[in-house]
Amino acid sequence: MNEIDWVRRAIQTAYPNPDHVGCPTPQALADMARRKLPVTPEEQNHIFHCSPCFATYLAVRNQIRRSRIIRLSTIWTCSTVLLVGLTVYTYSQRPLSPPPQFATAFNLQERPVFRGTQSAVIHPSPFVMPRGIVHLSLTLPLGSQAGMYQVQICRDTNTKALLTTSGAAAVRTDGATVLNVNVNSTSLQEGQYALGVRQDDGEWSYSPLLIHDARRK
Ligand SMILES: [Zn+2]
Repeated sequence: MNEIDWVRRAIQTAYPNPDHVGCPTPQALADMARRKLPVTPEEQNHIFHCSPCFATYLAVRNQIRRSRIIRLSTIWTCSTVLLVGLTVYTYSQRPLSPPPQFATAFNLQERPVFRGTQSAVIHPSPFVMPRGIVHLSLTLPLGSQAGMYQVQICRDTNTKALLTTSGAAAVRTDGATVLNVNVNSTSLQEGQYALGVRQDDGEWSYSPLLIHDARRK
């Protein structure tokens, strides 16, 4: 028991007033404790020198304090729940970051071209393509004609094309045939692949290709 409790206990027992001489009504006492009624100096003096009145006054004050604590903790809990909910909602509504975009050029005149995918997949010096949306400029092997071409990315001979796209190739003034296509390699894992190119329904020719995540160093 601390000193304040000890003084309270003392006042509650020090001034017994069994006949309630000069006591305000319990309602008036409660209203004073709730600050609904002003307490005159005489009433204050009475409360401090009448154990039954002091006990009633103290009980009402304690009740008010308890309900205030409950009210405050309820507000705190509600606002915490609201804040957590709001944070979760904000994060869930946050748009996913768009895939990175790249512009990459491969010169197929410089690398060996394979008829099958298998040799291309294991070739030691592949073209390197970042993961993301890639604006790919392919300089086709010498003598390639202008026109529509198909492009695909395969893992090896046993797997189907993981990605296909197509575009029109044009012959530049320097004689090189260039094919521009957009490839979205976001869904592909890092690793070695074969990049297939063919004109119309012609035969596929494959170049070694490595896909890597440019954001990872
Ligand atoms: Zn009294």
